[in-house]
Amino acid sequence: MKRKGLLIVVSGPSGAGKGTVCREFLRNNPETVLSISMTTRQPRRGEVDGENYFFTDVATFENMIEEGGFLEYAKVYGNYYGTPKSFVKENLMAGRDVILEIDIQGALKVKEKFDEGVFIFIVPPTMEELKRRIQGRGTETSEELLRRFNSAYQEINFITRYNYIVINDSVKEAAKKIEAIITAEKCRVDRNKDFYTSLQGGIDNALSFNR
Ligand code: 5GP
Repeated sequence: MKRKGLLIVVSGPSGAGKGTVCREFLRNNPETVLSISMTTRQPRRGEVDGENYFFTDVATFENMIEEGGFLEYAKVYGNYYGTPKSFVKENLMAGRDVILEIDIQGALKVKEKFDEGVFIFIVPPTMEELKRRIQGRGTETSEELLRRFNSAYQEINFITRYNYIVINDSVKEAAKKIEAIITAEKCRVDRNKDFYTSLQGGIDNALSFNR
């Protein structure tokens, strides 16, 4: 029987570097697919529709909520962000691992529905570094920056709901840790029931053969 793909949820406060770590991971693991979120936020300079996000308007987004088209969605800093459900479902069923890079509210909603996912929390090495990274991006107004700092401080408290913590002091190392986590997760006994039951069947056959 074909094994279902693994749902990997990468989350953490804004400025922790989840996007960069995910890109590095995907560069080394091209067989894993990234779910592209839908958002009502305006594209930043250089962002491409269908690559970074599916950019849309509030009415279309709310329509899709009504139709049950999202695995999860959340309002982050005044804009909607959501994970289209069908893409994730189709790829998991086809045996491909799917990675979601989403905020903490969204990750917790996925966990309620889909506890067999792997929930990874990316953190910066220090809060000073987090502050530096949010400022360094230079794309937000000072009001927006303050909002992001404040929520980042609060969001750290949700870490205990996750399975793994990855400290992003080096992007390469952090991406390697995600690889290691996925390898270990795939070796978990509860994810290999079909395999070990077929082995148990094999033991029964071998014993009857010797009798
Ligand atoms: P940004 O505006 O910087 O691209 O993203 C803002 C926040 O929204 C980030 O924490 C990002 O991970 C999160 N985000 C992106 N896509 C989704 C999504 O589909 N669902 C949720 N819940 N959060 C998302």
